[in-house]
Amino acid sequence: MAEKLNVHEMALMQFHNAADAINLSADIRRILEKPMNQFKVNFPVKMDDGHIQVFQGYRMQHNNVLGPFKGGLRYHPTVNTAESIALAMWMTWKSALVDIPFGGAKGGIQIDPSQYSKGEIERVTRRFTYALGQTIGPEFDIPAPDVNTNAQTMAWILDTYLLTVPPHERHAHIHVVTGKPLGSGGSEGRDKATGQGVVYLIEEWANDRAFPLKNATYMVQGFGNVGSWSARLLKPFGAKMVAVQDHTGSIRNYKGIDPDDLYQYVQSTGGVKDYPQAEAIDPDDFFASEADIFIPAALSEVITEDIAPKLKVKLVAEGANGPTTPHGDRILREHGVSVIPDVLCNAGGVTVSYFEWLQNKRSEFWDIEEVDMKLRRRLTKAYRHITNIAKQHDCDLRTGAYIAALLRIENTYKHRGIFP
Ligand code: GLU
Repeated sequence: MAEKLNVHEMALMQFHNAADAINLSADIRRILEKPMNQFKVNFPVKMDDGHIQVFQGYRMQHNNVLGPFKGGLRYHPTVNTAESIALAMWMTWKSALVDIPFGGAKGGIQIDPSQYSKGEIERVTRRFTYALGQTIGPEFDIPAPDVNTNAQTMAWILDTYLLTVPPHERHAHIHVVTGKPLGSGGSEGRDKATGQGVVYLIEEWANDRAFPLKNATYMVQGFGNVGSWSARLLKPFGAKMVAVQDHTGSIRNYKGIDPDDLYQYVQSTGGVKDYPQAEAIDPDDFFASEADIFIPAALSEVITEDIAPKLKVKLVAEGANGPTTPHGDRILREHGVSVIPDVLCNAGGVTVSYFEWLQNKRSEFWDIEEVDMKLRRRLTKAYRHITNIAKQHDCDLRTGAYIAALLRIENTYKHRGIFP
């Protein structure tokens, strides 16, 4: 049977699975099924050649019962209402399960940034921030980097947003975005945080089953922030990267690809294509590579019912959001492949975003050791908690993670009730 779910339907299916497992009340289900607020805007920007182009921007705010809306902004042609809602829901579960006081939101701009100059991207970003207006705010909705956005994007958003508040209040609004450059209120360790979290969790998984990471092999899809950091941080364990795929091509070398060298190459060329120390392979062959660990760190709906049977790995560590479809999940389970689900596996990013937000509010600067130690502690605790829930409910870690999140949110709604 062909799989025709879009990411939004997929996110809902995962949610209902877990809701069924814990008999979540029908009332809470109805609330969590829908985003609280949806913001969509068409805004004009002057291009380098003088003509005006109109872009579509989105911000979907799923839930804020545990704290301000939180989540990234992505610049990609696939950005739309349904995708942003799914990603916003995933942010709600993610923050809840690592126990940070945030809700979930997501958005971005429907754009292929590679087609525009840096000046154009800056103007697009600033005009979008202006259009967002009070939709975002340091105690209300706090954006962060996501696909094709980075610390520079956050610096432009910060600068533009601050100009919309009275001068004497500006410094008090610096936590309106996280993932900022270090000199603009960013945190040590935020840039690598998602990849660092992926690696801490791979370590937990490996320790649990006495699986040696020394000489373990891994393959990575996507060599942007999450993929490249995960790859580079796994190297010191003596693990060997054997295959990489990104939007430009697929490469393999069973003798090992040096992640640091590949990173330098990708920085200068824009992709893994034609990397001289590996052989170019067919994109479909990539998935069937011999490796122990697969880190999908690109876009959603990659491990489908067609791709899942090809994977030979023991572990899928989901750096991306939504890389595995429900059918793909079922096949991985049947084949005995472990999955560290996205909502936990990539939660390092939002966790260090929370640390950045706290440091801004307290005018503090934590050193990298403190950030890493606190990140590790939180992720390890969530991993243990979710593993226990999965055992109790005899379910996979994804459902376990959802259950952990839903119980926390349900509990809060029970205390507060519904107005009026
Ligand atoms: N975009 C990242 C995510 O999907 C980080 C979100 C954040 O730091 O708010 O988790």
